[in-house]
Amino acid sequence: MPSGELENWDKRFLWHPFTPMCSWLENEPLVIEKGEGVYLYDTKGYRYIDGVSSLWCNIHGHNHPHINAAISRQLEKIAHSTLLGLASESSIRLAKKLVDITPQGLTRVFYSDSGSTSVEIAIKMAYQYWRNLGQDKKKLFIALKQSYHGDTIGSISVGGISIFHRIFGSLTFHAEFADCPHPYRFNGTPEQCRKHCLEQMETILEKNKGQIAAIVVEPLVQGAAGLIVHPKGFLTGVRQLADKYGTLMIVDEVATGFGRTGTMFACEQEGVSPDIFCIAKGLTAGYLPLAATLTTEKVFEAFLREPSIDTTFYHGHTYTGNALGCAAALANLEVFEKEKTLESLTDNISLIDKYLQKISDYDFVGDTRQCGMMAGIELIEDKKNKKNFETTQQIGAKVCQLLRTKGVILRPLGDVIVIMPPLSIKKEQLEELLMVVDEGIKNDLPKMVRNP
Ligand SMILES: *Cc1c(COP(=O)(O)O)cnc(C)c1O
Repeated sequence: MPSGELENWDKRFLWHPFTPMCSWLENEPLVIEKGEGVYLYDTKGYRYIDGVSSLWCNIHGHNHPHINAAISRQLEKIAHSTLLGLASESSIRLAKKLVDITPQGLTRVFYSDSGSTSVEIAIKMAYQYWRNLGQDKKKLFIALKQSYHGDTIGSISVGGISIFHRIFGSLTFHAEFADCPHPYRFNGTPEQCRKHCLEQMETILEKNKGQIAAIVVEPLVQGAAGLIVHPKGFLTGVRQLADKYGTLMIVDEVATGFGRTGTMFACEQEGVSPDIFCIAKGLTAGYLPLAATLTTEKVFEAFLREPSIDTTFYHGHTYTGNALGCAAALANLEVFEKEKTLESLTDNISLIDKYLQKISDYDFVGDTRQCGMMAGIELIEDKKNKKNFETTQQIGAKVCQLLRTKGVILRPLGDVIVIMPPLSIKKEQLEELLMVVDEGIKNDLPKMVRNP
């Protein structure tokens, strides 16, 4: 194949997700050919640190021998058989394992293929739960402003990021959004912020009493919003409010699950057990598309009242419970045990913290935030007045583009530089990643701002 042919074909035949294609077409795409551990290699042979875990899903590095072997072994048996009317070995084994490791009370596993579908299913499940119980008034969903739960119509209906969701307004169903301000922009202590957020939530609950199907939240940190870390105790407060107002609590652990926040699941840090629980990104350690929505026996039982009324949950995808995906997920969890992944995170988490403290002092850095192995650096034009850069300046994208030339792949969220490497990253590799980011923000960013 002539050199440059793949790049040409990409521009001619692909449409990239979440990508302004007009600027994509003006640039040379970087084509990834292989991966090894935390590194990605392009077709030209250059090596990069995968600083965003291939969009937040890689856990133990690329090309991990244990996960590769598990997928191959499954492939020798069967790649896929349907869960509609049939059961399959790896999906059963995984379901049992997931019930064991997720928060107490979650006893049933419903599979799908992406984070969006896991949330879509959670919404439909909650909605039908109340219908099955004859409580037809409970229809309303409450979510948080700036929340992100995926891109299907149901999941964008409970999403609160205007640039992603605005266009589709008339296609979505109505939801109420509680304003939980970003602690960096809130005028007060974290404790006052927590109180404020819960009061906002309760006002909506009170106003819509008896009509709420569920509250949907990302636990501890709102990822796509720009890694906005909630004040401590907020998640517990939401659990208490859901109980007080007799509604379900849906927790979207798509981004936070599988060690990202320092514990296997974010909910553990506040001892919260939701009624419905969504997982996806890290479930197969970033190898194959698989997701799951877990729920309690209480919710499940409301779907058992056949045949007097049909309470069946009519939802399912062709590849639901895919055997290769389930085998990869089981291998992922085995690697967590074998490599003591969670136990080994402490040093990396403190190393990130150390660098963030240093970086937060620089010009054009407004806020730095961290929740375990998720970190964000918010770039800002005017530090004193907390004034953002113009979005047209695309400063976050420009910084990440520059860091690429220094061997690091990152993808920003607006002007927030996101640092989210595989959990398995070694101390020296993490130090290299953080040094490149540190130097870019200290030395190159000011030049970029002064001579755009
Ligand atoms: C990424 C994400 C989703 C959507 O997952 P997809 O697999 O991209 O559909 C949903 N919720 C949260 C919190 C996410 O970060």
